[in-house]
Amino acid sequence: MLPEVSSLWLLQLLRDIQLAQFYRPILEELNVTRPEHFDFVRPEDLDGIGMGRPAQRRLVEALKRYRSGLKPKKWVYKILGSFTPEQKETTSPSDSPPCPPEPEGGLKCLIPEGAVRRGELLGAGCFGVVHRGLWMLPSGQSVPVAVKSLRVGPEGPMGTELGDFLREVSVMMNLEHPHVLRLHGLVLGQPLQMVMELAPLGSLHARLRAPAPTPPLPVSLLCLFLRQLAGAMAYMGARGLVHRDLATRNLLLAAPRVIKVADFGLVRPLTGARGRYVMGGPRPIPYAWCAPESLRQGAFSSASDVWMFGVTLWEMFSGGEEPWAGIPPYLILHRLEKDRARLPRPPLCSRALYSLVLRCWAPHPADRPSFSHLEGQLQEAQPPEGRCVRDVMETGALRMEVGDPITIIEGSPDSTTWKGQNGQTFKVGSFPASAVMVTDWPATRPVHRGSGERHRGNANGDRAKAKLQDLPPARDQRRNMPLPMMKGISKSLESVLSLNPRPTGGGSSPPELRRARAVCKGPPVLPPCPPFASSSPSQVSQPPREQPSWPKREPPHNHPVGAPGASKATVPSGGLLSDPEVQRRVMEVELSVHGVTHQECQAALRATGGDVVSAIRNLKVDQLFHLSSRSRADCWRILEHYQWDLSAASRYVLARH
Ligand code: AMP
Repeated sequence: MLPEVSSLWLLQLLRDIQLAQFYRPILEELNVTRPEHFDFVRPEDLDGIGMGRPAQRRLVEALKRYRSGLKPKKWVYKILGSFTPEQKETTSPSDSPPCPPEPEGGLKCLIPEGAVRRGELLGAGCFGVVHRGLWMLPSGQSVPVAVKSLRVGPEGPMGTELGDFLREVSVMMNLEHPHVLRLHGLVLGQPLQMVMELAPLGSLHARLRAPAPTPPLPVSLLCLFLRQLAGAMAYMGARGLVHRDLATRNLLLAAPRVIKVADFGLVRPLTGARGRYVMGGPRPIPYAWCAPESLRQGAFSSASDVWMFGVTLWEMFSGGEEPWAGIPPYLILHRLEKDRARLPRPPLCSRALYSLVLRCWAPHPADRPSFSHLEGQLQEAQPPEGRCVRDVMETGALRMEVGDPITIIEGSPDSTTWKGQNGQTFKVGSFPASAVMVTDWPATRPVHRGSGERHRGNANGDRAKAKLQDLPPARDQRRNMPLPMMKGISKSLESVLSLNPRPTGGGSSPPELRRARAVCKGPPVLPPCPPFASSSPSQVSQPPREQPSWPKREPPHNHPVGAPGASKATVPSGGLLSDPEVQRRVMEVELSVHGVTHQECQAALRATGGDVVSAIRNLKVDQLFHLSSRSRADCWRILEHYQWDLSAASRYVLARH
């Protein structure tokens, strides 16, 4: 990964050798943001930006001098690898929290805005839109990525959305698993953007719902996905995290046979001896996927993720159907608890698998299997694979031809009729057992005969003997529960309970999610972001509502000339944008602060009377402020502590988000 630091060093270096005119091309076309990036720049690249060979030699010499003067590197530079975060100083910013060592992994990368090109829209989530993109590395290599941009309203990003977005970043930056979507880095631009691994085949839900002629996903592949999912969730649980939004819409297809868990906006750390997270207030939750304790008390744990895993499995085997479709949210808990109702067994789901699902839906969280347990049990419940040894053409039977691969959904060595899926036609049906040869019957597979639902209890005694019943249509249900029935339901559920019945086909996602998915058709609107105007911690304040007027024009002989950042002189006004000195300063500020716009730099300079250093600092404080829940004064102290390295300060606040 490429750690990014302020690029002011480059400007200074080029100035020293009178090559400042190459600053932008080097930064923007060659994507060089650190001295080490020059290791990947070839003479032809410098030719390409119009730098002559003598100038190139000067640059090489200057770089040697610069690099020999640098402190030893504390990080390992690797393209598309991990990096050890820069070592932190041992002193803490005064009266701000001490800086503990970086979490393992650290923030993977701050990516310059110009290094990412956004393409087509891939989808919209609860707090932003996702585009296909290309990430250009300094080596010239380009990596296909997905770019999630934080949605911003006219007032800037909404608090909860920003919080969830940043939480997603801080969670993802510490995860590394083959079935967990990888975060490449963050663009501190406007809007904030997450650069993630691209899952080119989109969401599993969309794949499950894909109309003909797209073939359905075979049962054997669904079982593989379940094992991948259980592995990823066991990994998350081991890291003390609860996902809280497990559903096929949040599983992405990175390849035809590879799913990745995504959407970590609702992830929370598990705390306390009971390893739970309890919601602090009413927030939208995906109620149709939720365990009873989540609906009743807002309590989430690995066991509630296991419940959601069961619902996700149900979605997978129902072709992406909506769970509890037609049941209003306020009745779901009632159906689960009072009626002990459970989602019915989908036709593609074997009884062995369904009995496992029923255990995931045990009323008591302690009775549900753990994800690591599930991994083994899924292996056991894997339907055996066979080959057709004689053509079956009888009416009523599953048609097959010699050689067709057949997945046995129901059947055992001693039964004469089996139910299965023809891997050639994807059709499901019953057929004579003699038509298919299965070489490896799993030894431990339970024999399922007859129509009764037999499932093995677990070591704790199976409390999950749910009464299975078909659900009556929603029309029969009263729209409001009587008040006494509401007793004991936590406040966190208010948002769910107060919902009106869903519009048909709207999905069981919270309405906020649905709305977000429906409305986001393009990139978010960029708000005008006023700069942070103070220049010292004591003056730290909210951004001014109106931009201060540009200082009065000074007589020409008062124009400051000098090294970048050295000037405290007043910036001239009148014919502003054409004034080369103003332009130079604006550019200097723009190039020194990751993710700010030209207008913001102009405004920041206005606010500081043209003082470049203060403008840079204020903008960095502003960037950090928007990235964290900390006060501006805190952001100032953190940045001071990290010697105004925005990248390092961002890693610090994100790691503690
Ligand atoms: P999210 O905001 O994470 O819910 O994403 C919204 C939608 O964007 C998803 O349902 C996917 O269709 C799409 N999407 C999100 N992340 C990616 C990705 N990394 N690769 C491809 N598509 C994605």
